[in-house]
Amino acid sequence: MSRFLDARYQALQAYTPGEQPRDMVYIKLNTNESPYPPAPSVVEAITAGEVELLRLYSDPTGKELKEKLAQLYGVQPDMVFLSNGSDEVLNFAFMAFGGDGVTFPDITYGFYEVFGDLYRIPYEKIPLKEDFSIDHTDFCGKEKMVVIANPNAPTGLSLPLGQVERIVASNPDHLVLVDEAYVDFGGESFLPLIGKYDNLLITRTFSKSRCLAGGRLGYAFGNPEIIADLEKIKFSTNPYNLDRLTLRLGVATVEAEDYYREACEKIQKTRAWTTAQLESLGFQVLPSLTNFVFAKTDKMDGKALYLALKQRGILVRHFTNPRICQFNRITIGTLEQMQALIAAIQEILEGNHEKL
Ligand code: PMP
Repeated sequence: MSRFLDARYQALQAYTPGEQPRDMVYIKLNTNESPYPPAPSVVEAITAGEVELLRLYSDPTGKELKEKLAQLYGVQPDMVFLSNGSDEVLNFAFMAFGGDGVTFPDITYGFYEVFGDLYRIPYEKIPLKEDFSIDHTDFCGKEKMVVIANPNAPTGLSLPLGQVERIVASNPDHLVLVDEAYVDFGGESFLPLIGKYDNLLITRTFSKSRCLAGGRLGYAFGNPEIIADLEKIKFSTNPYNLDRLTLRLGVATVEAEDYYREACEKIQKTRAWTTAQLESLGFQVLPSLTNFVFAKTDKMDGKALYLALKQRGILVRHFTNPRICQFNRITIGTLEQMQALIAAIQEILEGNHEKL
């Protein structure tokens, strides 16, 4: 740390992204990326002509992509916000709407806490129930901003829409942010109810279901006033938050919706296969509606399993939080990748028997 860093940030614990080691080629099941490439039409969308146009600034309003998303999801373009990954819209939302404090579950996306610390917003972490589900009544009538990932990460569990609606309806004077980063893998979106509530912001991403994690493209839906507030923050920090190539990729992606639906279906099938296999090996697997599963076994310590898999070239995500340190979060890859994972786990557990 330099001696110039503002005192406000000296104790800040930054978010730690999932590891991206370069020492060998891993089967990467640790950051919930898609195992599938973008649609062929998306790959072809970046031509030499597009690259040449990089001498010009990108469209700071993202008009074309907003219109495409609005059309796909049946909302008005002024209800759509575009961001550099959904992390950026989460950042802006904490900045813009978190003044009275924020509340979120104790086990959820780790960035919420970092934004709370960054903006010195008092936050309340409400423990998940014993079975890792969210008790929606804990989030009703809070008098502060509420942030719920639905489905939640890293558990993969979802709240029924009726319960999300009770949270939104019971906090009419504060923003409720529903983070739907993983909703395309079988979850229920709150989007159809967007017109009913003016305190709702739904955030989404192209990183998971749209196979574009490296493109850094997120979006959000909310009523036009909320979106205008977010635009104000964006135009006060980084008006050209999305580059030309990403905007182009975004438009081509929305145009290839069928390809992505199919990819999500494949992932759901592979998730069912993986869950069954892990259960047959004695794992407890939380019922997931995402592109990952959260699983543990009594036969082996969670961290030891993570390390043993890493040694065999398979990366999964382990968290040190004592409440979940026996679990690993495993991204659903291709069927072949998951077959390799299951074979490795079998081998590890067999080798481990004598030690038990
Ligand atoms: N929300 C949740 C719940 C996530 O797990 C992630 C991925 N790390 C994000 C948002 C942010 O993803 P991105 O910035 O790639 O859109």
